[in-house]
Amino acid sequence: MDIQHTLIPVNPFSRPGKKLPRVKALVIHWVANPGSTAPQNRHYFASLKDQSINHAAAKYASAHFIVGMFGEIVQCIPVHEMAYHVGAKTYLPYALDNLGQYPNNCCVGIELCHPHTDGRFTPETLTAATELCSMLCIQLELNPLTALWRHYDITGKECPRWFVTHPEAFEEFKQAVVSAVTVLKR
Ligand SMILES: [Zn+2]
Repeated sequence: MDIQHTLIPVNPFSRPGKKLPRVKALVIHWVANPGSTAPQNRHYFASLKDQSINHAAAKYASAHFIVGMFGEIVQCIPVHEMAYHVGAKTYLPYALDNLGQYPNNCCVGIELCHPHTDGRFTPETLTAATELCSMLCIQLELNPLTALWRHYDITGKECPRWFVTHPEAFEEFKQAVVSAVTVLKR
């Protein structure tokens, strides 16, 4: 698996530089910008650093990884540092029980690119995301059956759209990660 380690600069809006004490979950997102590439989305996260610190409408956003439509993987933030990808005013009860009051504290965020507004992922994206998630499950000692979450499962936001409108596709993705972890552990 080829990961482009193009980390974004430490800054208050997208890479706070805080430690993630323990990773409990891998959270899957869609970039919600049809046709955009992994480097373009990385550039967006990096560009947030140029906001004024006193600006009331400042945006906070980032993710650890972005998987592009051709299966390319860009890493923006080290896995043991916090990213801003699941912050919300309120969280769903199941997420609060399992991930605590502030899930960004214990979640690795993975953004998936997509060609269209329906959010359907290309086979290349799904294959690369499966490899990435299985590698992370081994590295971070996570059980793929319980550690894979949709953003939707934490806040109710329609993200990633295809896995919200097609829950069976998310189940299939999870099973693919479970199988890939089994192979890696052999
Ligand atoms: Zn999301």
